[in-house]
Amino acid sequence: MLCRCCGEALDIDLESARFASHRLTEGLLCRFCKASPPQFEQAVAYAVYEGELREMIHLLKYERMSGLTRLLGGLLADAILAFRTEAGAELEVVAVPLFASKQRQRGYNQSELLARAAVKELQLRAPEWRLHCVSGALSRRRDTRSQFELNPPARRGNVRGAFEVDRTNLRPGCEVLLIDDIYTTGATARECAKALRRAGAAKVWVATLARAQMPQVAMWSAGVQGIQTEQEESN
Ligand SMILES: [Zn+2]
Repeated sequence: MLCRCCGEALDIDLESARFASHRLTEGLLCRFCKASPPQFEQAVAYAVYEGELREMIHLLKYERMSGLTRLLGGLLADAILAFRTEAGAELEVVAVPLFASKQRQRGYNQSELLARAAVKELQLRAPEWRLHCVSGALSRRRDTRSQFELNPPARRGNVRGAFEVDRTNLRPGCEVLLIDDIYTTGATARECAKALRRAGAAKVWVATLARAQMPQVAMWSAGVQGIQTEQEESN
């Protein structure tokens, strides 16, 4: 069972949950969302960050395997369709930005490629949705450290205040669909949502291709998977 807001796996006793029917009908929240509700409505992901999906994201990010974009954009579209009944019919699609120098170095922002590919796919599969890719609405004002070596509280500190919104590129009162490749602890999505809401977005929805679960993140912080993972977590 997953948190209805962020998608974190819930470590609950199903037997006792069965009797708490009022809580089940509301949908359960994980302890992070309970303690500190995010400013986004819901975060969905196509699948857990592991196996082939992890390899494909790696290829998209570091080897510039742009041929993968269409395939991965299709998977992201699957995840976005989960919002169908809840999100508004008109969404401004915003990709999580890279810091300018990092984007120059890489030559592209993988989240932006994914966002464009997913929107193309959704125009065919959900033509009733009006989705507009908006670039330049959100930017990263400083080069944040690699999130990999940080534990969850340090990750939050690392991205705090790191994003800014150019209000001329964001329609007041709009609903935003925020796109990223991986949802790790949610620190980035939370911070982007905060900036977007502050700039006048009515609601923010988050969709990522992959989602790490907390035990995975704890292993990375402890260095169990070694140095190879380091780059993966640095946007
Ligand atoms: Zn949650």
